[in-house]
Amino acid sequence: MSEQTGFTLNETDLPKQWYNVLADSPVPPQPVLHPGTKEPVTPEFLSVLFPMELILQEISTDRFIDIPQEVSDIYKLYRPTPLIRARRLEKVLGTPAHIYYKNESVSPVGSHKPNTAIPQAFYNKAAGTKAITTETGAGQWGTALAMACNFFEMDLEVYMVKISYQQKPYRRIFMETYGAQVFASPTDRTDFGRSLLAKDPENGGSLGIAISEAVEVAAKSGGTKKYSLGSVLNHVLMHQTVIGEEALKQMDLAGEYPDVVIGCVGGGSNFAGIAYPFLRQNLKDGQRTRLLAVEPTATPSLTKGVYAFDYGDTAMMAPIVKMHTLGHTFMPAGIHAGGLRYHGMAPSLSALYDAGYIEAVAIPQVGTFEAAVMFTKAEGILPAPESAHAIRVAIDEALDAKVKGEKRVILFNLSGHGHFDMMSYQQYLSGMLVDYAYPSAAVAEAIQTLPQVEMAGLV
Ligand SMILES: *Cc1c(COP(=O)(O)O)cnc(C)c1O
Repeated sequence: MSEQTGFTLNETDLPKQWYNVLADSPVPPQPVLHPGTKEPVTPEFLSVLFPMELILQEISTDRFIDIPQEVSDIYKLYRPTPLIRARRLEKVLGTPAHIYYKNESVSPVGSHKPNTAIPQAFYNKAAGTKAITTETGAGQWGTALAMACNFFEMDLEVYMVKISYQQKPYRRIFMETYGAQVFASPTDRTDFGRSLLAKDPENGGSLGIAISEAVEVAAKSGGTKKYSLGSVLNHVLMHQTVIGEEALKQMDLAGEYPDVVIGCVGGGSNFAGIAYPFLRQNLKDGQRTRLLAVEPTATPSLTKGVYAFDYGDTAMMAPIVKMHTLGHTFMPAGIHAGGLRYHGMAPSLSALYDAGYIEAVAIPQVGTFEAAVMFTKAEGILPAPESAHAIRVAIDEALDAKVKGEKRVILFNLSGHGHFDMMSYQQYLSGMLVDYAYPSAAVAEAIQTLPQVEMAGLV
């Protein structure tokens, strides 16, 4: 065993293809339904929102899809990303476990989100799109797409959840620096936004509402604007698999193979990005790595939600997909992991979880920040509150291995840094942060609003 800490790849090791889990998934994909008719959507319906190349990727069952040269050229600004063995953290914990993390915080915007923002901007540009609309919660996705649209010279409108817009001015300014326009959602720019403001001018917004606004603007633009989503969809998760493909090579360099792969889940993209290539090795190569998704107890869509057809947004304008959901009317508590506050979960991940190929756990935020501070002190990197969920569970795995005297190999995805989340660290450090669990009664109530899907054989 080498004493190496960092396992770096060269530009020439950059993956040439994305991995499409639908080629190998033992659970068949469920249809995507039109929000009005509740019949399977047609490519024509989707083409109002997305360029055809991304629609084809969305429904593709090809195992691998080539990464265009123009996309690789931009990936090279920050990829391949480092794989680090957290030796200092291991020492602090006194564990026989080996802990590795894939550091996606080294991208220019500080998270994994450019892995899909860049190809989405590329395929839009190639299709002649002039402007894109999107939503953002904490601002990570908006920033990534703002960078990508700037590289490909397209306009971008970002509908930013109002509470984040007010609490995170630096993320907004970051997006504006790339040339994006940023609006506090709900806005008076859409019918849906106006209807909400008429009822409650103080509405602080939610990711579901911001998605509705961005979708409405694109849908009513007469074809001049397309819409882009930063998580949940098949093509988004597929673009993120560069993380896991690199990690496979890097674990090989380290001379080890993970017993468990851990990632936090909001819509599921960074977790799928690191986990799906390892799932392929489980399915095709006889490996037995546990794949562990971590969510906050405040938005427990996998562990407490239902697996059902639901709308992707609050206004019921986005397609209906089968997923683990807390209901599209879900209003999240103001926890600090803003990127994890979505009501649903990626359909492919939901199906794999339902069938037992993936494990999930929900954890409260105080222990999460405790782990974040431990990691900051040991490894020097201050993680995003979202990523700290993966760190918490990686630490718990390492402590469990210690109790059992096992040499467990743990790999987690460090999805981003927390340099724009200092207010939440301040709250934690001053003892003001409290735990919150989404009440089961609220889940039961929201589930009453699920769409009635009556097609034979669907549910
Ligand atoms: C957006 C975000 C997440 C959550 O989104 P996923 O699609 O589940 O990955 C997690 N971590 C960071 C740093 C993010 O920006």
